[in-house]
Amino acid sequence: ADFGFTKVDKAKKADMVADVFHSVAAKYDVMNDLMSLGIHRFWKRYTIDCSGVRSGQKVLDLAGGTGDLAAKFSKMVGPSGEVVLADINHSMLNVGKEKLLNKGIVGNVHYVQANAEKLPFPNHHFDLITIAFGLRNVTDKSKALASMFRVLKPGGRLLVLEFSKPSTEALSKVYDAYSFYLLPKIGKLVANDAESYRYLAESIRMHPDQDSLEQMMKDVGFEQTSYHNLTGGIVALHRGYKF
Ligand code: SAM
Repeated sequence: ADFGFTKVDKAKKADMVADVFHSVAAKYDVMNDLMSLGIHRFWKRYTIDCSGVRSGQKVLDLAGGTGDLAAKFSKMVGPSGEVVLADINHSMLNVGKEKLLNKGIVGNVHYVQANAEKLPFPNHHFDLITIAFGLRNVTDKSKALASMFRVLKPGGRLLVLEFSKPSTEALSKVYDAYSFYLLPKIGKLVANDAESYRYLAESIRMHPDQDSLEQMMKDVGFEQTSYHNLTGGIVALHRGYKF
């Protein structure tokens, strides 16, 4: 499927992304578990383990959606720290806020509706920024990475968890079959929304591969960049520092 934005129709892509996440917000967590067979929990756990977050630190969970990472960070930074759960989509942000409140997570988490391309935070503010399964939805990824760089403190780090390029041809084939045929069917069956899950498959295919994303991070100023493949490169965790 080609939703039109592959030909650099930026306004169209932003609208499409907004529609997708308004539409999936209520069922987002259930669908995540179902579609990844629960493996997204392991990918997120790995990200948390790599975060090195300490008590008192300031963390931005960007495109944080329903708040899986923010919930964990809230405990790690403690009462003297700060977690900002930011997302462009108020439906996703509301589901996230409600979920965290229901878990009794209050006090050090703030909810901000924001576009990753122009973050409404001061320069040199955060110790850590995470963006999990968010960057591929952003229209201008370089602009977003530069915006993240700006709001990080010197010594701060960025972790990008995102779908990437499977490292073998065989895995690539299985994965393509899964995402282009099975995924929209599951989306139709469970959420009555094949279109949104077709977008998901398309956005994954269009996303830069491991080395391209690492280069984009370097281009906006990140240093000591690296990435780690998870589940055979279906997902990769990229890391970069601002010095
Ligand atoms: N981080 C969460 C997780 O891992 O479960 C949510 C990921 S969800 C697949 C992608 C999120 O990115 C959505 O909540 C969407 O609203 C958000 N998003 C898309 N474009 C964005 C942008 N330009 N700025 C901020 N958030 C954006």
